[in-house]
Amino acid sequence: MDTQTIKIVIAGPRGRMGEEAVKLVERTPHFQLVGAIDHTYNQMELSKVLSGAPDVTIYTDITECFTETAPDVLIDLTTPEIGKKHTIQALEHGVRPVVGTTGFSDEDLTYIGRLTEEKGIGAIIAPNFALGAILMMKFSQMAAHYFKDIEIMELHHDQKLDAPSGTALKTAEMIHQVREPKPQGHPDEKETAEGARGANSEGVRIHSVRLPGLIAHQEVLFGGEGQTLKIRHDSYNRASFMSGVKLAVEEVMKVDQLIYGLEHIIG
Ligand code: NAP
Repeated sequence: MDTQTIKIVIAGPRGRMGEEAVKLVERTPHFQLVGAIDHTYNQMELSKVLSGAPDVTIYTDITECFTETAPDVLIDLTTPEIGKKHTIQALEHGVRPVVGTTGFSDEDLTYIGRLTEEKGIGAIIAPNFALGAILMMKFSQMAAHYFKDIEIMELHHDQKLDAPSGTALKTAEMIHQVREPKPQGHPDEKETAEGARGANSEGVRIHSVRLPGLIAHQEVLFGGEGQTLKIRHDSYNRASFMSGVKLAVEEVMKVDQLIYGLEHIIG
C-alpha cells in the first residue's frame, strides 16, 4: 500500500457525511487533514465547531484555502450546486477532487472529464461510496442480461435534495449498457395520479421514496415468467460510505482522468 501522506481538505465538514469523513481522515495514518471549506465560520478552528475534530482552519474562500494549505485531495460532501463549483475549482488549482456530493448531470461530468484531461490530474466522483451498493449495481447489471423487465425503488432520508438518487441513475445507466431500451408496463397505461409510474430512464422506471428514519436504500426489481428477483442494499449509517471514500482518496492519487463510479476501482 502507498504510505505517502496524502494532504486533504474537506468541504462540508459539519454535514452528516462530512463529519464521518473528518473521523476517517483522523484515524487513517497516511491521511492528514490540512483544512476545511465551509460557507460560514471563516478562519475559525474546526475543533471549535465540530467536537473531536483537529485544529485545522476553516476557509470560506476555496482559493485561499488551497493556497495556504496546498492539499493533494479535496473531499467534497456538500450540495449539488456547490459540489460542482468546488470540483471545478479544485481541478483548476491542481487539487484532486473526491466527490461524494450527488446531483451531477451528464453535461457536468463531460465538462469535468475534459478538465481532468486538460490538467492531467485525476478526479473521482461516486454517487455511492458504500461497497455493498457497488456490488448491488454490479449484480443488477449482471441480472439485466437475463431479466429485461426492471424497475428501481430508491429510498432515502427526507433531507436529500436530489431525486432520483445518483445511485439509481447510475444503476439505470449500467443496465442500459447491457440491455436495449425497453418501455416498462402496458403500452396504453395512463397515470391517474401524476408520477405514479416514477421517473423514466430509457424504460427503467425509478421510484423515489423520501422518509425520516431512512438513510440510503435501493432495491432493483426484475420480473420474469412466474418469478421475480430483488437485489437490495441498505446503508444504515453514514459510516458505511467511508471505506469507499478511503479507497477513492488513495486511488485518485494514481489516476489522471475522471473516474465516475466506485465500480471502476473495485475488482
Ligand atoms: P448535509 O448533512 O446537509 O451536509 C452538507 C453540508 O454542506 C452542510 O454542513 C452544509 O452546511 C454544507 N455546505 C453548504 N454550502 C456549503 C458551501 N458553500 N461550502 C461548504 N459547505 C457547505 O448532507 P449529507 O447527508 O452530509 O450529504 C452531503 C452530500 O453527499 C449530498 O449531496 C448527498 O446526496 C451526498 N451523499 C453521498 C453519498 C455517497 O456515497 N456518495 C452518501 C450519502 C450522501 P449548512 O448545513 O450550514 O448549510
